[in-house]
Amino acid sequence: MPTRSRIPVLAASLLAALALGGVQHPALTHSAASAATRPTTDTGPLPVASGEPDAKIVYLTFDDGPHPRWTPQILQVLDQYRAHATFFVIGQQADRYGALVRREHAAGHGIGNHTWSHRPLQGVSYARFRQEVLRTQQVLGPLGSHCLRPPYGAMDSHTRQYAESLGFQVVLWTIDTRDWQRPGASVIVQSVLSRVRPRSIIVFHDAGGDRAQTVAALRTILPRLRAAGYEMVPICR
Ligand SMILES: [Zn+2]
Repeated sequence: MPTRSRIPVLAASLLAALALGGVQHPALTHSAASAATRPTTDTGPLPVASGEPDAKIVYLTFDDGPHPRWTPQILQVLDQYRAHATFFVIGQQADRYGALVRREHAAGHGIGNHTWSHRPLQGVSYARFRQEVLRTQQVLGPLGSHCLRPPYGAMDSHTRQYAESLGFQVVLWTIDTRDWQRPGASVIVQSVLSRVRPRSIIVFHDAGGDRAQTVAALRTILPRLRAAGYEMVPICR
């Protein structure tokens, strides 16, 4: 369960994100206001819109892991093509496969929060939202960034506000590969290569079913992106 001592850390990261212009209008809480006077080394999430808007950068993201079979294969392909990604992990999976989360982080990838149970956050109470996010964050500890990807991308009018009040930035995507539908590796490849542009945020999955097509597609996508001059960096770290 989350503890009160975690709150100032989260609040500090919210302020760091605010200072970088990455988060719009959160209601500052009491603890956030007091954290403002303290120095912090916590940089919070990387704001999506920072830097040159048309820099040849793409953000690869992998949801629903870690998974003992597929995550290591994906890590191997990323390493082969010197690509860095962000893994939006499910808290229950991260708790069970902590060694894989540590491996992801040690390899230079970012770790984002994809809730504890992967139930949609749409329509949930703040108490429930808080539990889903902070229970996961407690498992991730210092390896976790302060980026939140709601399961299924399902949001309601409270989602961003709730996230921001806990010091998180919501990170969705601009290219959905729909790899979870297993349309064939070549369809996954085309879904990326036909739409990629500077600062695309691309969603794949490293769990939730047989991900052989995803692994195969990455073996084509990553060298093509590199050949086109793209750098693949974590959106959250
Ligand atoms: Zn998911």
